[in-house]
Amino acid sequence: MPSVEIIAVGSELLTPERVDTNSLWLTAQLNELGFEVTAKSIIGDQRQRLTQAFRQALESADIVLATGGLGPTEDDVTRDCAAEALGVSLEHWDSLWDDLKAKFARMGRPIPENNRRQASVLQGGESLPNPNGTAPGQWFGRQHGALILLPGPPRELKPMFTNHVVERLRPLAGDNVLSRRTLKVYGLGESAMDQMIAHLYPQHPEVTVITLFTPLDLEIHLLADGPTAEQGLAKIAPLEQAVRDVLDLYVYGHSTQSLAEVVGGLLLQSGQTVVTAESLTGGLVAQRMTEVAGSSRYFLGAYVTYSEGMKQTVLGVRPELLQQYSAVSPQVAEAMALGARQRSGADYALSLTGYAGPDGGTDKDPVGTVYLGLAGPQGVESKRVKFPGDRELVRSRSAQASLDWLRRALL
Ligand code: AMP
Ligand code: MG
Repeated sequence: MPSVEIIAVGSELLTPERVDTNSLWLTAQLNELGFEVTAKSIIGDQRQRLTQAFRQALESADIVLATGGLGPTEDDVTRDCAAEALGVSLEHWDSLWDDLKAKFARMGRPIPENNRRQASVLQGGESLPNPNGTAPGQWFGRQHGALILLPGPPRELKPMFTNHVVERLRPLAGDNVLSRRTLKVYGLGESAMDQMIAHLYPQHPEVTVITLFTPLDLEIHLLADGPTAEQGLAKIAPLEQAVRDVLDLYVYGHSTQSLAEVVGGLLLQSGQTVVTAESLTGGLVAQRMTEVAGSSRYFLGAYVTYSEGMKQTVLGVRPELLQQYSAVSPQVAEAMALGARQRSGADYALSLTGYAGPDGGTDKDPVGTVYLGLAGPQGVESKRVKFPGDRELVRSRSAQASLDWLRRALL
C-alpha cells in the first residue's frame, strides 16, 4: 500500500493561536480510503525550509499532500517550493487566469496582479477547481503516487478533497480498505486496562490496537484491512469479543457514543426518568444529559443547589444533617437524591456533593473527595469517590462517575 505524508504549510500554525486541523481531517479521510499516514509536519511560510520538506517527503512517501500557502501573496510559496522540489517549472494557464478574472468580476472587484500566481500550475500537473475560493488546487501524478496541493481554509479544502482528490486517489489505494471499531471504556486506568487485555493482542496479529486515554475515559481502537469493510470488520470481531469478555461492564459503548447517550438509551428502553441534584458540578451532569438529542423523553431536570440554604429549601435536606455531618457527606448526598426524587417524581435521582478545590476539604475528606448519591425504586445509596486533578477535572470526573453509576444501576 502506498505511504502518505502530509505537510501543513503556514507560519500561523506554528503559533499558539492556530491549530492545524486539516491534517486530522485528511488523515481520517485517507484512512477510510485505506491509506496509512506515515508522517506529517507543519512548516512555516519559508521557501528554503518548505522546499526541503517537500524533497524529504517526496523521497520517503508515495503520496504527499500539502495544505495551505496557495494564496496570492508573497508568503504563499507552496507552488514554488513544490516545483523546485520536483524539479519542474510552473506554467501559466490562461484558462485559470480567465476563471480568476471572472470570479473577481462577479464580486465586482478589480483583480490584483498578485493573483496571477494562482494561475500557475506545476508542469505536467492538473488543476483542481475551487468553487469556494480563489486558490485552485493541484494534482501532480508520480509513479505509484502523487503530489497534491490543497488550499488552507477548511471550507475550501474539504469539498476539493471530496470532489476531486478522492476519485484520483482511489485507484492508488490498492484493493484494501481500513475498518475500525472503537470501544469506549470507563472506570479503569490505562495501565490497569492494558494488564487486562494486552495478552489478547498477539492472538490477533491482523488487528492493530490503539488505546487512547482521555481525562474522562479510555478508547480502544481496533483496526484491520480487507478487500471490503465487512471483511475488515470480520477480522476485528473476534478480538473485540475477547476484549468485551474481559472488560465486561467497563465497556460502556462504541464508536462516538458518550456515556450520557448510553445512559439515555437505557432509560428510554426501560421507560424511566432521571433528575439530578448537583452541588459541586453546578449542573454539569444535566448538561451532559441534555447534550443528547431527544433527552427530554427521560431527563426531567436539575436542581443546582450550591448553598446549604438551597439544599434545605429546594431539596428538603434537614438542617441537622448539614450541621452534624457537613454538606459534603454520604448522609447529605443521600438526602439530596431522596429529596430530588420525591419532589420531581423521577424514577432515579443522581446527587453530587464534594470538594472541587483548590481550597476547602478536611483531613478526612481532602480536595477531590466527592459523595455521589443515587435514589431509585430500590431505595437510596451513596458512595465516596476521590479524584486527582484540578477543579475543572474534579467536577468533570464527578459528573462522569455519577452517570456511570446510573448506567450500572440500569443494567
Ligand atoms: P492559506 O491557504 O495558507 O492562505 O491559509 C488560509 C487560512 O486557512 C489560514 O489563515 C488558516 O486560517 C486556514 N488554514 C491554513 N492551514 C490550515 C490547517 N492546516 N488547518 C486549519 N486551518 C488552516
Ligand atoms: Mg498561509
